[in-house]
Amino acid sequence: MKGALRVAVVYPDLLGTYGDGGNGAILARRAQWRGFEAELVQAVSDDPLPEADIYCLGGGEDGPQVRAARSLVDDGTLARRAGAGAVVLAVCAGFQIVGRSFPGAEGEPHEGVGLLAMETVKGEGPRAVGEVLVDVTGLHDLPVLTGFENHGGRTRLDDGTTPLGHVTVGVGNGGGDGSEGALHGRVVGTYLHGPVLARNPALADVLLSWALGGASLAPLDDAAAERLRDERVSAVSRRHRRGLHRRTGSDR
Ligand code: GLN
Repeated sequence: MKGALRVAVVYPDLLGTYGDGGNGAILARRAQWRGFEAELVQAVSDDPLPEADIYCLGGGEDGPQVRAARSLVDDGTLARRAGAGAVVLAVCAGFQIVGRSFPGAEGEPHEGVGLLAMETVKGEGPRAVGEVLVDVTGLHDLPVLTGFENHGGRTRLDDGTTPLGHVTVGVGNGGGDGSEGALHGRVVGTYLHGPVLARNPALADVLLSWALGGASLAPLDDAAAERLRDERVSAVSRRHRRGLHRRTGSDR
């Protein structure tokens, strides 16, 4: 790769509610710790979206989410860069935005950027709120993902769209099939906050190796993240086994 790896946090002023900007920081740091030059850019919504190698979109509230989607569609850079092979990690509102359409506050449909073949509608039941565990099926050899979700929208993947995985605890996409997230090329969408890459460094390294042209990445000392993962996975599994956890979306 020529020059520094550029990681852009997309519209932290609109999609910064859930701390998902941490995903960008984690990607830049994990590259730097391995000796790669990396630059973290906070791409605010007043400015044209900059050129970057990785774009991270986070969660947000319904109104700002609509504004973010409009700006991204009008700006055109995200779709162009994704088409050219840039990596996109899109979380919750960001995930909904990179689909074909998603609901506003009253449930009215809004146009998404269309990087993933899926659409999101307003859910009938209560918001999906709580811890989530995901068995990853869409990427090789990734350990279970841990994170938390907080969304009203329900996402239906088109036939043929690959989910990131399947929930063993939590709601995920909420379309009744147990799927969580979606993948297409180097675009990854998920409902998992955390930030998801802080809780799941193995997923961070998949995205990094894509952005670094398939470079093999030296292992890092992830002992602190592993302790957090172990604690979360066993606490959530225990609660789930005892029936204390809320039911999954397919039960609603
Ligand atoms: N507004 C969206 C929903 O409720 C996204 C929420 C979020 O980003 N956490 O479905």
